[in-house]
Amino acid sequence: MRVLLAIACLWLLSGCAATRPAEIGRSIHQAPIVAEDHGRGRARVYLIGLIHGDEPEGYQALDDIRRLLRRHPGIRVRLVPDMNPDGRLAGTRGNARGVDLNRNWPASNFTPHPQRGESPLSEPEARAVHDDLLAFRPDVLIVLHSITRGGPFVNFDGPDPAADLARVFADAAGATGDPRWRVVPSMGYPTPGSLGTFAGTDMVIPTLTVEFERGHDPETARQAAVAGIDAVLARLTATRRRPPAPLPFLP
Ligand SMILES: [Zn+2]
Repeated sequence: MRVLLAIACLWLLSGCAATRPAEIGRSIHQAPIVAEDHGRGRARVYLIGLIHGDEPEGYQALDDIRRLLRRHPGIRVRLVPDMNPDGRLAGTRGNARGVDLNRNWPASNFTPHPQRGESPLSEPEARAVHDDLLAFRPDVLIVLHSITRGGPFVNFDGPDPAADLARVFADAAGATGDPRWRVVPSMGYPTPGSLGTFAGTDMVIPTLTVEFERGHDPETARQAAVAGIDAVLARLTATRRRPPAPLPFLP
């Protein structure tokens, strides 16, 4: 009885809004790829903490992000902390076969290439997240990256409210003390087979690609990540609560 009581207390203290991580697939080296559910609301956000193995900034902020999610129980967030465990351990952009997991998607602009894979979803990591993403059917997708030059910024793909949420993220991240945060509508180079093109353009899921500055102070990135995601979730909550527009006056 005491044990049950202790578990119940821990559950309540944890915010009782997160489920145990579920394995959604395995990497080439058989590392599990997991997804965690946070919150229970109707608005649905899919969040990927790491896709390029040499971009750890978002991944390093995940404990703070999990704490933040407890403050937004009205939004259901499915978090994939790390979709490239082999690349993260090796410190490489791609997976263990050298394929860029952000170019291996069945996007309308996919073309085969050794660094993109011989076909869309040829890589088990991309397949796992693709199937989980489509099953979850998010209202918004957020993917955390970092970039050597030109960062930090938020790029977006897809329909409204993608542009608005990118602005909300960049403004909140910038308010933490790094005024360079801005919205960049286009990456400025072709991205065949990218997740942003697949999810945002082809599947019309508003998609934010967040680019922290690579190798910068991790604490700065952590504060920006938490502030940006907090602001996006608050905006989604406010949008959901907005009363329906009044009916037009009919004479
Ligand atoms: Zn990246």
